[in-house]
Amino acid sequence: MAEIKKDLLIIGAGPAGLGAALYAKRSDLDFDLVEKQMAGGQIINTEFIENYLGFEKESGFSLIEKFVAHCQTLDVSVKQYCGIASVQEIKEGKDRFFSCQISESEDHYKVRSMILASGASPKMLGVEGEKRLIGKGISFCATCDGALYRDKVVAVIGGGDTAVEEALFLTKFAKKVYLIHRRDQLRAVKILQERAFENQKIDLVWNSVVEQFLGKEKLEQMVVKNVNSGRTKTMDVSGVFEYVGFRANSGPVKDLVKLDDGGFIATDGHMQTSCPGIYAAGDVRSKALRQVITAAADGAVAATSIDKHLRGLI
Ligand code: NAP
Repeated sequence: MAEIKKDLLIIGAGPAGLGAALYAKRSDLDFDLVEKQMAGGQIINTEFIENYLGFEKESGFSLIEKFVAHCQTLDVSVKQYCGIASVQEIKEGKDRFFSCQISESEDHYKVRSMILASGASPKMLGVEGEKRLIGKGISFCATCDGALYRDKVVAVIGGGDTAVEEALFLTKFAKKVYLIHRRDQLRAVKILQERAFENQKIDLVWNSVVEQFLGKEKLEQMVVKNVNSGRTKTMDVSGVFEYVGFRANSGPVKDLVKLDDGGFIATDGHMQTSCPGIYAAGDVRSKALRQVITAAADGAVAATSIDKHLRGLI
């Protein structure tokens, strides 16, 4: 069993983790940056980012490539691992450490501080037929699976920025995209709403929720209920893309730090959680605006605060 000792462990290499790594390196901290998938987080699956300052229109993948390349100029590399199974606080005299057990491994990190930049994962609807048909017509990634639905009818569930953005993306392939939303107003930002209203291929289904997915080998239909009238209808669809929000990947520290009602990690302005030494940045933390630009900024603040924390300045 190997023990890896570091001053700082950054968990997750999306915009928040990479932003933190850049600032940690500039502060000459002894740290590792670990990621269980490929660097990038959710934005790898985003066709275009149009609101990161300095980049008018950049693919999510290309923006992340630039972030990683920038970190590499400072010799920061992303270590692949299987995830963190658990985190424990250890007290040795006056010193505090965190023991982070690596999943599927005997190895663990013993660190003085950590930044949770582990992002968020898509929520599911929890309706009948859903689990059975995931990967057989039900998807959470239009960028990955959209091209499979050329000239087919698909539906997007949700009314936020992600749902509308992905519905617009799917119009490249599908002949019709139902956008099914439980209210009579979209939550998405105005510019996206306008694009959706103007797009002839998008058919908005207001005040409606999915009750059931149907299909033997693959998705064929779904039962949709109008929440005002209570009436249900069965709609033929080849694909469904669910975008009904995200849940925080806060599991490994859930017993150590304060979470909000949605499971997101509460932090102060320094990105410090309720447990001194544990910081959080990006989509995993409780915040008002989840964007690439705010995630990268959170990472910068967290790493700078940890530098001060380790030097006893805060
Ligand atoms: P979100 O803003 O939480 O929206 C989730 C949507 O799903 C809402 O419209 C919600 O309806 C609906 N919903 C939730 N639970 C549902 C259920 N059980 N059944 C049916 N509908 C349900 O999530 P998001 O759109 O993924 O966005 C997450 C964050 O990322 C936001 O902060 C967003 O601004 C950001 N983001 C930004 C961009 C961009 O800047 N281009 C792109 C993507 C995401 P209600 O509206 O009725 O609550």
